[in-house]
Amino acid sequence: MSAIEMRNIVKEYGDGFKAVNDVSLDIADGEFMILVGPSGCGKSTLLRMIVGLEDITSGDMLIGGDRVNEKAPRDRNLSMVFQNYALYPHLTVFENIAFPLRLMKGISEDEIRRRVHEAANMLELNEHLDRKPANLSGGQRQRVAMGRAIVRQVNAFLFDEPLSNLDAKLRGQMRTEISRMQRRLGTTTVYVTHDQTEAMTLGDRVAVLRRGLLQQVASPRELYEQPVNMFVAGFIGSPPMNFLPAMVDGARLKLPFLEVEVPAAAAGKVSDGQLLIAGLRPDHFEDARMLDPEKRARGATFRAQVDVTEWLGDSQYAYLPFEANPEVARQLADLAAELDSEALRSQLIIKIDAMSRLRENHEG
Ligand code: ATP
Repeated sequence: MSAIEMRNIVKEYGDGFKAVNDVSLDIADGEFMILVGPSGCGKSTLLRMIVGLEDITSGDMLIGGDRVNEKAPRDRNLSMVFQNYALYPHLTVFENIAFPLRLMKGISEDEIRRRVHEAANMLELNEHLDRKPANLSGGQRQRVAMGRAIVRQVNAFLFDEPLSNLDAKLRGQMRTEISRMQRRLGTTTVYVTHDQTEAMTLGDRVAVLRRGLLQQVASPRELYEQPVNMFVAGFIGSPPMNFLPAMVDGARLKLPFLEVEVPAAAAGKVSDGQLLIAGLRPDHFEDARMLDPEKRARGATFRAQVDVTEWLGDSQYAYLPFEANPEVARQLADLAAELDSEALRSQLIIKIDAMSRLRENHEG
């Protein structure tokens, strides 16, 4: 186990393009760090530089306090799990897991057997040790790849989108298994994903990247509640945050269809008449018809036409089209010209508590 320190890491490809641009990031000993961001943001490149599969253009990479820039991958003592599993098809599950141990000198056959069984136990692979990878399901193959990673003591585990080839249910299951395994072994882990559910549920901390630049490094909760910029605000959270043009009017914040008090967190940081973009998370909306009058009076209410609803079991989403409100649509169009297009969504999504809806049905 070891801490990983990155100091001003740059990866420049031949044409001068910087896939990773001046990234400094400290990963503590035993920490579970997620690297997340949209396709092409440089997260895999960064991971590959930790492992040594990619040269570092400039900056320092330290593992356990040692500078490893020039060290070959095999001398860094790391385990990597790939998206495509990278198993040996001609070897059994047992031999696939045992493989890294066979490359090491001085490990007895008994010791290999003991360690493979220990890893297989943890991953519920005991019954499949004699099978070849071709005769396993996708989830089982991924487990074998993980077994191979955990069978020896390493400085860190590195995962590159390990669950992308699995269906949604299995992904959820494997997520909890990886989390449990990491906690049990306490090994420093770096995990690359573009899936923000994985990012939010697995990591102690999450590093958000965009176009090679580190945007924010924080706990999942802090990313959600205190994003440092619109990119992080829009990227973290599903459905995404809504962005609306807003104007400060004294102690009030005027939005296209409602008016609220300037939030306490923003008080003192904004000035009268200032034009802003307000971010509203879907879960901050409630269906006013379901609220008691006192609670309703405390909030800001507005009338809206519902375009589409999505039923999710424990809640439902209501999509309110801006087109139904020409004034909002116009203001958003003006705003879109100033912002990059990723920042704006054409629809406002409102999450409604399903239980309230059921109550209404009963009363009705
Ligand atoms: P994805 O989620 O799609 O895998 P990523 O965030 O992992 O994306 P990287 O694979 O790290 O992205 O790539 C970062 C950028 O570097 C991309 O724009 C990619 O096109 C570019 N890139 C990667 N490898 C090379 C290369 N060998 N030569 C030139 N550019 C490259």
